[in-house]
Amino acid sequence: MELTSFIERYSRQIMLKEVGVKGQVKLFKSRVAVIGCGATGTALAEFLARAGVGFIRVVDRDIIELSNLHRTHLFRELDVLENLPKAYACAKRLHEINSSINVEYVVDSVSADNIEKLIDDVDLVIDGSDNIETRLLINEACIILNKPWIMMGVERWYGMTKFIDVSKGACYQCLVGRRYRGRENVCEVLGVSNAIVSLVTSIASTLALKYLLELPVEEDLFIVDALDLTIRKIKLNRNPECSACVKKEFVFLNKKESGRIRYACGSNMIEVLPEKILKIDFSRLRETDILKHIKVFDNKVAYIKVGDVDMMLLDNGKALIKNIKDFSKAEELYNNILKELNKLSAIHYL
Ligand SMILES: [Zn+2]
Repeated sequence: MELTSFIERYSRQIMLKEVGVKGQVKLFKSRVAVIGCGATGTALAEFLARAGVGFIRVVDRDIIELSNLHRTHLFRELDVLENLPKAYACAKRLHEINSSINVEYVVDSVSADNIEKLIDDVDLVIDGSDNIETRLLINEACIILNKPWIMMGVERWYGMTKFIDVSKGACYQCLVGRRYRGRENVCEVLGVSNAIVSLVTSIASTLALKYLLELPVEEDLFIVDALDLTIRKIKLNRNPECSACVKKEFVFLNKKESGRIRYACGSNMIEVLPEKILKIDFSRLRETDILKHIKVFDNKVAYIKVGDVDMMLLDNGKALIKNIKDFSKAEELYNNILKELNKLSAIHYL
């Protein structure tokens, strides 16, 4: 982008004495990872893209559903009909909003296996996830890699957000307490108002911008009540006994998933991993009997519909399968699809 249009584009922001041209350049040189492209993650991603943050990586394993639209600004009805992966659609919209920044998308579930790689090269991590376990995993990875992150959580009419500098102050484990070691109902689906999403993400966006501009950032826990329309700021101290930031016991990071077939947190999804390390070349794909409805996105990920079952197949052979409950049925479907891909010589075993 030409310097003149750069100045023009961000002119209202540059006019702010806390920003100026220097601050705007700082934003352009900043790198952020957004973990989760739900209502909170996409709101932050949009805000940062508009503000001119130079690199944004968005990560999500899911496809867009009709029930997402009431609270997710970036997604449209057509995206639901086209079964777009959330991360793909989010990146596409961000690029449409600001083509001068670099946006990267990753379609995958976030786990102990990949979290460090996803955040290693960024300045700030944004939590757009919808469960405590993923937040604790982000927390531990940020402690190991010494990355600041912003936690967000929304539920019904309530929400909270906190900027977490893992080198000092309270971490997320300090906040949820020592007792938390995973619970059964983290995937429970609760109602949420779109008003609370906007309120919480507005605060979180401000914290992100202030951090990237190297302005002092509040480290209080912000608790927002959209019914009473109140915002409380709570000072939190580091727990001197914290298992994560003090004792460096990384329970979630060390919890490597076992088994090739497993349930993924959040509704009815089963993950299937390949038996061997492989790479799928989706460009060789064409319709066959079993692969009736295939959509390939950038040769990186394919959406496959078989009856009522939705499958996202990643180029590393990992599959995320929805609307199927039985492990053996999921495996059978997966094996059949791989067999078809093999016939097309689309699979390279490494
Ligand atoms: Zn802690």
